[in-house]
Amino acid sequence: MEINMKYVLQTLEEIMKIDSPSGYTAAVMEKIEQKAQELGYGFETTHKGNGVITVPGEDPEYVVGFCAHVDTLGLMVRSIKENGALAFTKIGGPNLATVDSELCRVHTRDGRVYDGTVYCTKPASHVYKEAGAERSEENLEVRLDEVVSSKEDVLKLGIQVGDYICIDPKFVITPSGFIKSRFLDDKLSVAILLGVLEYFFSQHLTPRHTVKILISTYEEVGHGMAWIPQDIQELIAVDMGCIGDDLSCTEQMVSICAKDSSGPYDYTITSRLAELAKENGLDYALDIYPYYGSDVSAALKGGQDIQGGLIGPGVFASHAYERSHVKAVENTMKLLIAYWQD
Ligand SMILES: [Zn+2]
Repeated sequence: MEINMKYVLQTLEEIMKIDSPSGYTAAVMEKIEQKAQELGYGFETTHKGNGVITVPGEDPEYVVGFCAHVDTLGLMVRSIKENGALAFTKIGGPNLATVDSELCRVHTRDGRVYDGTVYCTKPASHVYKEAGAERSEENLEVRLDEVVSSKEDVLKLGIQVGDYICIDPKFVITPSGFIKSRFLDDKLSVAILLGVLEYFFSQHLTPRHTVKILISTYEEVGHGMAWIPQDIQELIAVDMGCIGDDLSCTEQMVSICAKDSSGPYDYTITSRLAELAKENGLDYALDIYPYYGSDVSAALKGGQDIQGGLIGPGVFASHAYERSHVKAVENTMKLLIAYWQD
């Protein structure tokens, strides 16, 4: 199995460069559409804005969906303060302790982009006793890299309530193979699925069943795959694998989730995924995720009649500055390739 890691990492970098918090994903979806078309696959968009890439299988009667979400956590302007700073509300659940001092970009509705930084409202250690206080929406704000000292100054820039504030992902790949970035959850899995697509394309392979790759755009706010194309019988979410506490997954493994906060995943699918990982000599872990819900949970809650599974690359420090490794990418891709052919 010759995996084109260069393609996956380059794709990851390309989609990392495009800001895409939930509800602001049009630009990144255009890039993904272009990537699918480069490989000769069609790309459809649902009314909500999710993407569908269909790969015809030997048996077109049975359709398996694989979903990953390209939407990320983010912030949104809640109000403009009299001092020219921006109060914000969270999109999804970023860990606010780690958001302090991060670089960010404010996207106005008329297409202007302004750089800024997230700061505590009392940031200077030499001035405020409270500089080390616990971070919250109340004591964090965005300072723009513009000379502004009033609400009027900010309004003149075209910034208004409801504008997206996108946190810089700080994307890095180390010589030792670590991938460090915000939003590896779940752009890493999007790159992995496109990598599997590239593998089937370049090796002239046909999956056993028809495959639909679904790119989700509202996962972080809970309803990404609440609706899916109705010919899908089986849905596998490819989303970050949890690491920590008594879980056994590492940053080098593919994680197979047996149960998360939304309940157990389909018994047959989970068992088959674990069997395939074992048969192929992959480094994998079967784990329980204590605080987690996936797009398969969203599909089931949305009333979809499917069997669901969940796998993904091990990702350390989720919803903070995350870290994974190329070995996790390789193990996840090999499990997906085996499943597509099974
Ligand atoms: Zn996720």
